Amino acid sequence: MEDLKKFFIDGKWIIPNSTNIFPVIDPSNEKIFAEIILGNEKDVEAAVYAAKKAFNIFSSFSKGDRLKLLENLLSVMEKRFEDLAKSMTKEMGAPIKFSRNSQADSGIGHLKGFIESLKKQSEREVISNGDILVREPIGVCALITPWNWPINQITLKVIPALAVGCTCILKPSEHTPLSAKIFSEIIEEAGYPPGVFNLINGDGPTVGTLLSKHKDVDMVSFTGSTRAGVLVSKNAADSVKRVTLELGGKSPNLVFSDCNLEERVNESVLECFSNSGQSCDAPTRLIVERKCYNEVLKIAENAAKNQKVDDPHKDGDHIGPLFDQIQFDRVQNMIQLGINEGAKLLIGGLGKPDGFDKGWYVKPTIFYDVHNKMQIAREEIFGPVLVIIPFEDEKEAIEIANDTPYGLASYLQTGDTERAERVASKLRAGSVHINGGSLNYGSPFGGYKQSGNGREGGDLGLEDFQEFKTLHF
Ligand code: NAD
Repeated sequence: MEDLKKFFIDGKWIIPNSTNIFPVIDPSNEKIFAEIILGNEKDVEAAVYAAKKAFNIFSSFSKGDRLKLLENLLSVMEKRFEDLAKSMTKEMGAPIKFSRNSQADSGIGHLKGFIESLKKQSEREVISNGDILVREPIGVCALITPWNWPINQITLKVIPALAVGCTCILKPSEHTPLSAKIFSEIIEEAGYPPGVFNLINGDGPTVGTLLSKHKDVDMVSFTGSTRAGVLVSKNAADSVKRVTLELGGKSPNLVFSDCNLEERVNESVLECFSNSGQSCDAPTRLIVERKCYNEVLKIAENAAKNQKVDDPHKDGDHIGPLFDQIQFDRVQNMIQLGINEGAKLLIGGLGKPDGFDKGWYVKPTIFYDVHNKMQIAREEIFGPVLVIIPFEDEKEAIEIANDTPYGLASYLQTGDTERAERVASKLRAGSVHINGGSLNYGSPFGGYKQSGNGREGGDLGLEDFQEFKTLHF
């Protein structure tokens, strides 16, 4: 069994004060493969104290010194790439090819993006009225991350914090501690001074709450559910710390009859099922022009039929299991709810795919004739479940797309470039993917409405971790 019980605090791997053990389970076979310790108040105090002490020194490192450390980090991360990929396959069931090409790759991609942004950022600039604007690190940052894109989320927070001279305490999801441990070893090997980066495991209600409330923590950067994001904001309010939030989504995907239907619908379905549907920005609502509705149903059904489900440890383009029993039960309940609400099942449905008794595998599922007021069209399902909703004209398509509490991403399929610009300008979401355009590393990512605030990645991702000081001479 993997030993993941130590925390990384003040440059050392230490035995935590807490003795509260938590099992880590392989979702492909439901077997416990590791144990971690869920930290307590004393552990949080030790980590915050180390980060606060280190900030006095690290905040005065020059940009050149910080860039050098980031370059070291990149070379160690490239060396440990395969370890990172395998760890995510083990802890959250991401198929190994996807782990390499998307999950682990995102860590390297974001790191390169931040290096470029830091190189071109001016630390001091004269603004139009002659005053001088100085950028400074905000201070001690608590970084709380989810299980579904473990290294993607960790790098989007830890790297910009360290890039601008902050110190930090990472609390990864208690369900995915293996990739976080490897990431911490990478930081250690890159040569950061003790206390600049600290790792502590723990659950949300204890460690997450203690960090959010802590008077010596200057900022909390949180990624996870909207439910927990609201709690983080409330807990942080008394100390008036900065809070940035990356939360849930129920992203619309508008399909107009003038697009290349076969290609665009096929890709849209696969994009929804990717990572077993466990992505915050997955295009989960396919909103389709009535004119091409029946044709789209046929293409979508075919795409889902071809979507293989298999063991994540095998090479291939299949999807793996969901990450845990609770998530499996939740997805089953949502499928049942869709049936009860009167949505029609095009393919998939309740139960595991044939041949899978162990592991939290689900059938890729599509509902059609869905109304946007149904719960399956409003709530995040977080499984490979797509809902198809018809629309009559462009105005109605936009209304349905925006009729959601979320605003993380949106997708648009059309052959008409003027329409693409017009509709994109009306969509209330942090990103619009047009005809399959995907996010490039170094671009900002974040949400409108209840999908959060702040932007991660690239130039804006650095600024989230900075204070701005004005000098008046
Ligand atoms: P979650 O909210 O249950 O947990 C996320 C993290 O927050 C974990 O580390 C958890 O321990 C911690 N946490 C839980 N309760 C807390 C509390 N009260 N105070 C402080 N920390 C707390 O979410 P999850 O199930 O791990 O992740 C899935 C969710 O994350 C989905 O809603 C998904 O959409 C969202 N997500 C958003 C983005 C984005 O960039 N917008 C990216 C990935 C995932």
